[in-house]
Amino acid sequence: MDVRGKESESVPLEGEWAFYWNQLLTPDQVDSQAADRQYVEVPSSWNKYELAGAVNSYYGYATYALTLTQTPRKDKNALYIPNISTAYKIWVNGELLKQNGVIATSKEQAVPMSREFILEVPSDTETLHIVIQVSNFTHPRGGINESIKYGDFNQLSDSLQNKTAYDMFLTGALFIMCLYHLGLYCMRRSDSSPLYFSIFCLSIAVRTLLAGRTAVFTLLPQLTYDLAVRGEYIGLVLSVVSFTLFLRRIYTREMSLLVLRVLCLVSAVYAVIILSTELQFFMSLLKYFQIVILISISYALYVFILAAIRKREGALFSLGGSIVLTITIFNDILYNQGLILTGYYVPLGLLVFIVSHSFILGMSFSKAFASSEELASKLLLVNSSLEEKVRERTVELEEANRWLEKQTLADGLTGIANRRHFDEESQRLLRKAKNDNTGFCLLLMDIDCFKGYNDTYGHLAGDECLRKVARALDTMARQEGGMAARFGGEEFAYIACGASDELSGLAEQAVSGIRALTIPHAASGAAAHVTISCGMVTWMAHTDHEPPGLQLLIQKADELLYQAKQSGRDRYYQETVQ
Ligand code: GH3
Ligand code: MG
Ligand code: MG
Repeated sequence: MDVRGKESESVPLEGEWAFYWNQLLTPDQVDSQAADRQYVEVPSSWNKYELAGAVNSYYGYATYALTLTQTPRKDKNALYIPNISTAYKIWVNGELLKQNGVIATSKEQAVPMSREFILEVPSDTETLHIVIQVSNFTHPRGGINESIKYGDFNQLSDSLQNKTAYDMFLTGALFIMCLYHLGLYCMRRSDSSPLYFSIFCLSIAVRTLLAGRTAVFTLLPQLTYDLAVRGEYIGLVLSVVSFTLFLRRIYTREMSLLVLRVLCLVSAVYAVIILSTELQFFMSLLKYFQIVILISISYALYVFILAAIRKREGALFSLGGSIVLTITIFNDILYNQGLILTGYYVPLGLLVFIVSHSFILGMSFSKAFASSEELASKLLLVNSSLEEKVRERTVELEEANRWLEKQTLADGLTGIANRRHFDEESQRLLRKAKNDNTGFCLLLMDIDCFKGYNDTYGHLAGDECLRKVARALDTMARQEGGMAARFGGEEFAYIACGASDELSGLAEQAVSGIRALTIPHAASGAAAHVTISCGMVTWMAHTDHEPPGLQLLIQKADELLYQAKQSGRDRYYQETVQ
């Protein structure tokens, strides 16, 4: 092949190469074996040639040879060696430049490896004799499937570096997408679509990295070809499953559950085969799985079109991204099968596709976020008015409580303290008297001849009379610091505590106070006006004496009251108890 003057352009060494099937020849043996020489097209798989003695024509070994005529020059020249299936040795002008994997004549001895290299070749000679031994017992397409390139060393090195960097960039971008969507899912578990999408991104990232080979073998030199291939294939299967699940999740009504189940089942079966059989076997099945992929992509396209027709949210983005992806997938399958010579573009198509779907997910998230913000502000409004209402109700309740408390302690007819209040307050004042070492007094009062009052003036007038008497006693209590209470019927009580001289005049004050009201009482045997009789009992505290029980004091006061009644009413009797 003549490449004179083309050093700076990087020339693909495409065309007919000398080919020796089933022979591993060193450079010095090549010419002597001219009788077995065939010519094959490079790049192409040797599968398509009729090769003597080949059971599976893609497994075997052979030697390729090519002579280049170049213009001698000072700058360095190089060969770009692509991924060759699946082990090789390369000599230029009789010198062994590279061995990749282990070349062998049997599957047991061969060690497959796949990786690109830039090899420097002599630039000061007119001819380059290239000899390449290749053996393949692994890949379903044997031989040199991709173009070997000849050109300037620096230029070829740069382009390989760019290619590796591109693979790394795609992988990195996909990993970020994976983490981002995983984060979204973790924050909102109710929607599983970001999770499926995250797994999809991860599987594509793994596949991109592993399928690129050169980048991953540079990063992880210990990685074996076997593991890299299995990882790549598992990545592919996982991407089909995760994407199908994602599709079903976002277009539930457009996508059939049956298709989902069938695809998942087929993928699971293939995944088991990948993990449990030899490379040769599962790699040879890839073409059938590629058919499954093609069918599922066609179905996905149908789903996207249906969703777009039904105007589902973001469906047009889905459709656009999917069309780009579909084109790249068809391209890669045709390229992988050796039918076209374009290169692998699925990673790029996937990036476009993933970005379009990220956009849809982003849209649905921001919508969810906006509506939650709206709800939150509404809730805030409801909350603040609720708080206001609660405050109002609390004030109302407190008032009602106060009112109720008053009611339970007040007498319904007269409004002064009732019997219950009297009992509580008596106990308190007794303790106070004891603590202050002072006196306590209790007055029991009864309106004289009140039955007669009722009979004469009527029950309502009787009520009014009771109110007047109560009010008078209450006024006295306010002035003297005691408490007046309705004891029952037309009976009243009065309690106070203080020094004995302060208390001594209280009974007189009460009896004369009622008399002074001058409420006419024609039926009274005691006077012309309403009068009361009173019994008063006083207890003076001593240092170590406990106060007497309230019942005892009441009983005593009652006896004194009875005496007052007996001795003509409108009077009082008082006594001091120990
Ligand atoms: P004494 O001087 O001995 O106390 O004679 P009295 O008539 O006052 O005593 P008595 O116990 O015979 O009658 C008490 C009356 O008080 C009978 C009852 O109708 C009346 N009375 C009790 N409670 C009320 C009330 O709430 N309203 C009215 N109008 N009358 C009441
Ligand atoms: Mg009475
Ligand atoms: Mg009475």
